[in-house]
Amino acid sequence: MAKIVCVLYPDPVGGYPPRYARDDIPVLRGYPDGQTLPTPEAIDFTPGELLGSVSGALGLRRFLETAGHTLVVTSDKEGPDSEFERELPDADVVISQPFWPGYLTAERIAKAPNLRLAITAGIGSDHVDLNAAIAREITVAEVTWCNSISVAEHAVMQILALVRNFLPSHEWVTSRGGWNIADSVERAYDLEGMNVGVLAAGRIGLAVLRRLAPFDVALHYSDKRRLPPDVEQELGVTFHPDARSLAQAVDVLSIHSPLVPETYNLFDAGLIGSMKRGSYIVNTARGAIMDRDAVVAALESGQLAGYAGDVWYPQPPPADHPWRTMPNNAMTPHVSGTTLSAQARYAAGTREILEDFLAARPIRQEYLIVDGGKLAGTGAASYSVSGDRSPGSSGH
Ligand code: NDP
Repeated sequence: MAKIVCVLYPDPVGGYPPRYARDDIPVLRGYPDGQTLPTPEAIDFTPGELLGSVSGALGLRRFLETAGHTLVVTSDKEGPDSEFERELPDADVVISQPFWPGYLTAERIAKAPNLRLAITAGIGSDHVDLNAAIAREITVAEVTWCNSISVAEHAVMQILALVRNFLPSHEWVTSRGGWNIADSVERAYDLEGMNVGVLAAGRIGLAVLRRLAPFDVALHYSDKRRLPPDVEQELGVTFHPDARSLAQAVDVLSIHSPLVPETYNLFDAGLIGSMKRGSYIVNTARGAIMDRDAVVAALESGQLAGYAGDVWYPQPPPADHPWRTMPNNAMTPHVSGTTLSAQARYAAGTREILEDFLAARPIRQEYLIVDGGKLAGTGAASYSVSGDRSPGSSGH
């Protein structure tokens, strides 16, 4: 029998919801590239329920406990006295989510001699020290595609929120009780006609390009690999060979690359300083792609007109993290990929991975990041580990 330790974000402060804003969520037929939705043998939850918090337990409790396995779910994840770390020594499987990451560092992996599988209930396994997982032959898997469109929608929303100065205008009529048109519009523009770029046109970045095309903007991108010519042509999108060339060409930049050694702290004072004055950056990829203080300085000087995103480092950030109070930000907590719609997909995907693992069947290739002591599946296609400086490797 296996012991599964699951790190999830805490329940709402008002308690686990007794009812929801809507009665159902749309049923999708598949993902944009033809990949099938998760195919667990069964699910023990109603799609649309809150599954990503501790009481939701990703809908796994009945399935695992009925089969005699042990499931521990906790949000207490920081430091050696945390429940997460106390439960590690006899854990076979760890499940975590990027929104509330249980950082699986080399030190923690060393404390978990039985650990054989680390599942990311979402996408982005940079909270796991992949080199340590490779060395110990621990399988790392994530639920590829589960929340890619959720994130793309959030990025488009944050681009519009910044460019149109939405949040200050909203505050004028609500918490500030005013009707201050000039105050609201002195920083408001149309997106139409602007140069808008994405760094990385993978699942999320391409979905952002497709959603922005109808806004009559000039589209740009950079990636390690070019999009197929017919896609470039369909979107009228200009390719740039590197992040600097892209950053200098655009008014709005949306970041969708993974956090890998090449992108760690990529947006420093030099790169941000090379952009057009008054540019906007939206980052829904990973907080550590930015130099934290360079972002603050660029907003304060006006080099950036706005910064938005939902990813921070560390997560949760301390109360005095400067991104909470920097000017002209439209930050959210890390929520883009954990809508109730996304949760239904990644809970089902997590269960599919667990069903295969527990039955000693192969896990779907597209879910694999590390397997058999090397990068595998999606991990082999999109991750790199040489000289790893990701948060999972830095002892947090
Ligand atoms: P994909 O793997 O589909 O796309 C990533 C793209 O980035 C690929 O085209 C890849 O190219 C490219 N890439 C890799 N390294 C670099 C680099 N150094 N410079 C430029 N491009 C690079 O991933 P997704 O689109 O699904 O997700 C992207 C990232 O978004 C995730 O890694 C994760 O960090 C973040 N994310 C955030 C979420 C949130 O809730 N905010 C939820 C889900 C993901 P190639 O294929 O050639 O390697």
